[in-house]
Amino acid sequence: LERLRGKLSRSRSTLGQGLLGLLGAGDLDEDSWTDVEDTLLMADLGAAVTDQVVTALRAQIVARGVRSSDDARALLREVLVDALHPEMDRSVHALPHSGKPAVVLVVGVNGVGKTTTTGKLARVLVADGRTVLLGAADTFRAAAAEQLATWGSRVGAETVRGAEGADPASVAFEAVKEGVAAGVDTVLVDTAGRLHTKTGLMDELGKVKRVVEKQAAVDEVLLVLDATTGQNGLTQAWVFAEVVDVTGIVLTKLDGTAKGGIVFQVQRELGVPVKLVGLGEGADHLAPFEPVAFVDALLG
Ligand code: GDP
Repeated sequence: LERLRGKLSRSRSTLGQGLLGLLGAGDLDEDSWTDVEDTLLMADLGAAVTDQVVTALRAQIVARGVRSSDDARALLREVLVDALHPEMDRSVHALPHSGKPAVVLVVGVNGVGKTTTTGKLARVLVADGRTVLLGAADTFRAAAAEQLATWGSRVGAETVRGAEGADPASVAFEAVKEGVAAGVDTVLVDTAGRLHTKTGLMDELGKVKRVVEKQAAVDEVLLVLDATTGQNGLTQAWVFAEVVDVTGIVLTKLDGTAKGGIVFQVQRELGVPVKLVGLGEGADHLAPFEPVAFVDALLG
């Protein structure tokens, strides 16, 4: 928790401390409620979640007779955790199924941290005793395959790569084929992130998924979003969700942003759980997303 608090320090000082300051005072006038609303909106919780949180706080603060800052903290904790849908299944389905490799597609636009996330996830799985094969199907960004292979050799996973400019689907197909032949536990496929047009994406990513499915079922489609991009990230998320069945979200770069509230909004908008969060560039900076720990870090 200490570590998470440190990483979330910017969101903590604006969102967490801001809310505690406003609610801890007890009786709130209309101006103060407007400030609560602004604090939530500024942290990127979005209009709908902000509304939900403010309504719950207003009802409860009276019902419970919140007087002290400890009361306020307890109430905020409950309302914020609730808004994060703690009941959602956040397990990453990257474990082997009946002797066949689990297949995970990692999708998202360029620059969000897709390749880095794929590498970090491989590291977690290998540390957990799984054999992992990486598929470098981002053949458009010149350095992506090299970058992924570097992660692979660092963590002890082989990387299947194609020639530069090769069809991403053919590389994905080869990777899963090799993964099946070698009997690895998990194949992680880093896909190309070009979002020129929706049909372009649909053609490319849709094809990747279709050819992979000729070899093995896709167990997980992880959409990587950059937490610092706000509304833009949400727009991307919608486009991807229309093209592939996104099963989980990885929110990167939560370190150093004051807009950690995007977690609330993206889950609500897509109805898909945030499963992992990126908290830095380092190999061990990928963490499972836990609503209670997240809220405690914000309010801590
Ligand atoms: P891709 O184009 O989506 O594959 O993006 P990359 O994986 O190459 O990442 C783009 C940049 O974001 C790199 O400099 C990464 O080190 C950085 N990055 C990725 N994840 C995180 C994160 O969680 N926190 C921070 N601060 N940087 C990250």
